[in-house]
Amino acid sequence: MDKTPWVDQDECISCGLCIDNLPDVFRFADNGKAEVYAPAAAAEEIIQQEAIDICPVSCIHWQ
Ligand code: SF4
Repeated sequence: MDKTPWVDQDECISCGLCIDNLPDVFRFADNGKAEVYAPAAAAEEIIQQEAIDICPVSCIHWQ
């Protein structure tokens, strides 16, 4: 995998959409914000479409 997704937790509003769509990649951290725990568990295009593109505050990024 060339790119790794990460969540800017300062911006995350804990809506849960990324976790609902891709529970194998995202989960709630102890602080109630989303985090990436298995970045290779879905293809990049799926992460782009099912998480990054639908995050209401656009706080999921590639690094
Ligand atoms: S979709 Fe965005 S705002 Fe919602 S839980 Fe995931 S990272 Fe946070």
